[in-house]
Amino acid sequence: MKKYKNFETQAVRTQTPRTAQKEHSTPMFLTSSFMFDDAEDMRAMFADEKTGNIYSRFSNPNLTELIDKMNLLEGTEAGLTTATGMAAIFTTFAALLNSGDHILSCRSIFGSTHTVFGKFFPKWNITHTYVEIDQPETWQQFVKKETKIVYVETPSNPGIDILDLEWLGTFAKQNKLILVVDNCFATPYIQQPIKYGADIVIHSATKYLDGQGRVMGGTVNGRKDLIDQIKAFARSTGPAMSPFNAWVISKSLETLSIRMEKHSENAFELAKVLEKNQEIELVKYPFLESHPQYAIAKKQMRLGGGIVTFLVKGGVEQGRKFMDALQMCSISANLGDTRTIATHPASSTHAKLTEAERVEVGILPGLVRISVGLEHIDDIVADIEQALKASTK
Ligand SMILES: *Cc1c(COP(=O)(O)O)cnc(C)c1O
Repeated sequence: MKKYKNFETQAVRTQTPRTAQKEHSTPMFLTSSFMFDDAEDMRAMFADEKTGNIYSRFSNPNLTELIDKMNLLEGTEAGLTTATGMAAIFTTFAALLNSGDHILSCRSIFGSTHTVFGKFFPKWNITHTYVEIDQPETWQQFVKKETKIVYVETPSNPGIDILDLEWLGTFAKQNKLILVVDNCFATPYIQQPIKYGADIVIHSATKYLDGQGRVMGGTVNGRKDLIDQIKAFARSTGPAMSPFNAWVISKSLETLSIRMEKHSENAFELAKVLEKNQEIELVKYPFLESHPQYAIAKKQMRLGGGIVTFLVKGGVEQGRKFMDALQMCSISANLGDTRTIATHPASSTHAKLTEAERVEVGILPGLVRISVGLEHIDDIVADIEQALKASTK
């Protein structure tokens, strides 16, 4: 694939080779399998003596286009796509870890990743330790000889915690650990973890990569030797993305830069307005000076991203009242959509945890997460302000 100097051009111009029809836009290759010229051709393909498409669980032109594009945007050597973001995360761990291995991570990670670590990995004797995000000096003491992967999310969901990627890159290298970064909130337009020494970058493509709330997907990109192992595992275990979803997501990447610019502009504006609102205790956004890791965010992020969180004063009850008072913003569990979405984790995504467990993962009773969309900022602000007012009556 041709390399361009600028992100925008790369996102638009990376395309699978044209077919005999000379189509301008990439078509969908909705075919489960591909044909061979003869028995010898088939033998050579299965023997890896020739490259090409065999079966869409292994590869497909739509998947290849998306993988190539993500490699060029993230600055990585190799990649694969999966059916969902969780499939990307699970497949990566399952392929790279053995029974007895240990993961170093932080509490502020996506809920389902937390569940995989805590509930399912013990079945295979894979353990983890959560370290404090704001005390990197303590991390070293938790590295054991079984530790193989450092897994982080920055900014994290839903806590919007920021980790220093440069520091992490050095830490991982010194300890010979594989650094895996979930880059879902930032996208490669805002930050490229590979530049700081990450070995693998994961996305839930369901979020900003699609960006329009239509399809599920996951991507894994990184060091070729590691990706080869993950691909070999995925080829036989089958977490593949559908060609249709790959087509949608690859098209979406053409507008990623302008969407992220606008999401970030709207979110920053909303965060600044909310900071002045008396109904609220705390607003968290990477580019607000009040963010505890503001300096790190400024160092490694091009923009602040599209997610803002805040605390309503009255706890769970007021959080629910706020949600019910919204007139335009959607109540939904997704994020990274063109439509502004509000989530109240304590009464929904994290309701199954005890209050103490929620506090441990950084979810206070009044925490509201806003995935700021692409509507006009005045309409977004007006709806959230009126809902805050109505919910304190
Ligand atoms: C949504 C999300 C995931 C999981 O992705 P799915 O596509 O829903 O499986 C993983 N990490 C983060 C940070 C997410 O927001």
